[in-house]
Amino acid sequence: MTDDLSPRTRLVHEGVRRSQFNEMSEAIFLTQGFAYPSAEAAAARFTGEDPGFVYARYGNPTVAMFEDRIAGLEGAQAAFATASGMAAVHAALMCQLRAGDHVVAARALFGSCLWIVETLLPRFGVSVDFVDGPDLDQWRAAIRPTTKLVFFESPSNPTLELVDIAAVADIAHGVGARVVIDNVFATPMFQRPLALGADVVVYSATKYIDGQGRCLGGVVLGSERFVRDELEPFMKHTGGAMSPFTAWVMLKGLETLPLRCAAQAESAARIADALADHPKIGRLLYPGRPDHPQHALAARQMSAGGAIVAFDVTGGQAGAFRFLNALRLVLISNNLGDAKSIATHPATTTHQRLTEEARAALGITQGLIRLSVGLEDADDLLRDLRRALSTV
Ligand SMILES: *Cc1c(COP(=O)(O)O)cnc(C)c1O
Repeated sequence: MTDDLSPRTRLVHEGVRRSQFNEMSEAIFLTQGFAYPSAEAAAARFTGEDPGFVYARYGNPTVAMFEDRIAGLEGAQAAFATASGMAAVHAALMCQLRAGDHVVAARALFGSCLWIVETLLPRFGVSVDFVDGPDLDQWRAAIRPTTKLVFFESPSNPTLELVDIAAVADIAHGVGARVVIDNVFATPMFQRPLALGADVVVYSATKYIDGQGRCLGGVVLGSERFVRDELEPFMKHTGGAMSPFTAWVMLKGLETLPLRCAAQAESAARIADALADHPKIGRLLYPGRPDHPQHALAARQMSAGGAIVAFDVTGGQAGAFRFLNALRLVLISNNLGDAKSIATHPATTTHQRLTEEARAALGITQGLIRLSVGLEDADDLLRDLRRALSTV
């Protein structure tokens, strides 16, 4: 599509491949294979002379519609869709690493991302150093000539720490290292990592791209050369492809992504402001508020604060559990980015595997609640949150 159309328009039309029936809504091409009109045509598909589809592990028309649509939104030359967010993270890292390479990662990572970097990579001879994401001096000290890539999330889960994407990209590029960023919390609507200097962006599409808690999915975006020459062979031969049905759900999710993200972020900002001085809440973290420790950076690299708010309920774990159990509208779960608002107690669920010291280093206290703000009316949510807080 032409670049002068706004993201909202492109998210409705980009990437459409219509069949001979000219269907309005995109078709689900639920097929693993493709019949060739002749033996010569089959041969041409395999040499790449004919760019058509070969096998759904390599590509499928519905999956390709999703890939083209999100690549257009992200401003990426190419995208490859995966079966889950973790398949995307795994492929984005493993497809470009070799034994002897060095990786620098921020300490505050989604649990399974941490497992890949901390436990899996060293098994294959990749050495890893962790840094505090916000501290640029630590990045400068850790990145060395053998560093092949750096990896981080911004904002991070669950304490919403930011990494200065442009500054870390400068340091990494100084030694020829690539920057891989997990952009799930910011969403493609509020942060554009490629424009800030990142080389590869990964998403768990399970979160805001689906946005209604239905399917697992993921996507990796980057340059045409990276996606075609490094990522695609890895994905083709290891089998983490997205299913056509999932791709259709995600494709339709993209049509409403700007509207949902805007509404959810607006509610999150309102809730953060309304609860910041609540007597039953200690620390409240939201990148869109001036009291966020990195507010200036948030204003520079994000266009809104996102839809996640984190806060400490007074009374430690007992206070947090009392609050959670008193909620009537907000659901207790570990997912995020759903239309339904979700409250999580990271210390006993998503981050229970960590030691108490590791949790303390990440700011994950026993009273910490991560709130993923959904599509409900913000006043209804606030009433529920305030009533639950009053029981603490
Ligand atoms: C959920 C999540 C993932 C993993 O995605 P799945 O789709 O669950 O595999 C990775 N990174 C972040 C930041 C996430 O929130």
